[in-house]
Amino acid sequence: MKLEVVTVGTELLLGYTVDTNAAELGRALAAAGIEVVRRTTVADRPDAIRAAVADALQRTGVVVTTGGLGPTRDDVTKRVVAELCGKRLVLDPAVLSTIEARFRQLGRWPMPESNRSQAEVPEGATVLPNPRGTAPGLWLEDERGRLLVLLPGVPSEMRGLLAEQVLPRLAQRDGGDRPRVVLSRTLRTTGVAESSLAERIGRLDEEVAPLTLAYLPSPDGVDLRLTAWGLEQGEAEARLAAALRRLRPIVGEDCYGEDATDLAAVVLEALRRGRHRLGVAESCTGGLVAQRVTAVPGASDTFVGGVVAYADVMKTAALKVPLEILQAHGAVSEETVRAMAVGAQRLFSADCTVAVTGIAGPTGGTPDKPVGTVWLAVAVDTKLRALKRLFPGDRDEVRRRSAQAALDLLRRALATS
Ligand code: AMP
Ligand code: MG
Repeated sequence: MKLEVVTVGTELLLGYTVDTNAAELGRALAAAGIEVVRRTTVADRPDAIRAAVADALQRTGVVVTTGGLGPTRDDVTKRVVAELCGKRLVLDPAVLSTIEARFRQLGRWPMPESNRSQAEVPEGATVLPNPRGTAPGLWLEDERGRLLVLLPGVPSEMRGLLAEQVLPRLAQRDGGDRPRVVLSRTLRTTGVAESSLAERIGRLDEEVAPLTLAYLPSPDGVDLRLTAWGLEQGEAEARLAAALRRLRPIVGEDCYGEDATDLAAVVLEALRRGRHRLGVAESCTGGLVAQRVTAVPGASDTFVGGVVAYADVMKTAALKVPLEILQAHGAVSEETVRAMAVGAQRLFSADCTVAVTGIAGPTGGTPDKPVGTVWLAVAVDTKLRALKRLFPGDRDEVRRRSAQAALDLLRRALATS
């Protein structure tokens, strides 16, 4: 089955709201073997919605919309779609009493008059109950077998309706032959450039066909995503597993995990296995490394604490970085970052520490230490290793790359210690 998505909302076009609904629909529908062949975003304007939905319907015969089901004057999707299908809007008493019950339960009684409009349903439409909000989803099928599914814009409501109402109905409608899926598996890498990965991987993509291989770079690293298109579940899984077995040794230790694996969780697991205790000393990342670590449930059995030693005086006071080192080499230097890692071992009584100091920009760069220069160090017992990196990007990106690189240096140090 192929379908088109139309997301409705002026805020999406203005860029105030990121269109997460379209992305979620793409992922969830692909996993169900349904291909989203096009998506369109339009403003909350009747003419724009009408044109987008009519065009999409003409191309694929199946359209999912999100947004514009609210109670206010700018929410017009339902009215426009009803007109387009030549259906009248009629008040559905069951929907009305569900909405009223919700308002009573939330103590917001009497219900504003405008919410009554959310109980109006195009004649002949199936109501998709929405326990997370007031606007139900709507399922409209015409005599010619064309299908329109209207979902609310609020992401949690859209997600719930999609999983509980829409996907099961689409699967049933699709029925007949054995279901086919679009399935992906991902190898996550960091600390290695996309182009050098590509050189190592060479023409493996031809060997794993009909699977496709995509390189997805981000500030956290390069994800290698293998995708099986339109195969049966079992075959897709088997082919993906075989391709991963081919890819993994090529990527080697640059790979830190698969699929949604988080580098901080991988590091914590390695620390736990080695019965290490972790302390963190950060300058330019301002606590990002500690944030990443503490975001992982159960970090408390391994992570002792972190210090943001931003000013020189904190580097000397908390981490005992000798003033002479700071004066002779500067705050962003190999000598300083090493002293920070060792100082953190003492401060936190931790055998294992990681330290970061760098120039995140946009100011503060010099010819020999340009913006993006970052020194990282890891101490594991008496072993100390330091590394200089020069990161591209703006302040935000340099900081994010620095935190990821610090965690990765720790991961690699633990693998060889
Ligand atoms: P609506 O159903 O159009 O009244 O949308 C309600 C709220 O959902 C909006 O204020 C947005 O914050 C959010 N929203 C609408 N469409 C999307 C979308 N495509 N992706 C993410 N959020 C959205
Ligand atoms: Mg809206």
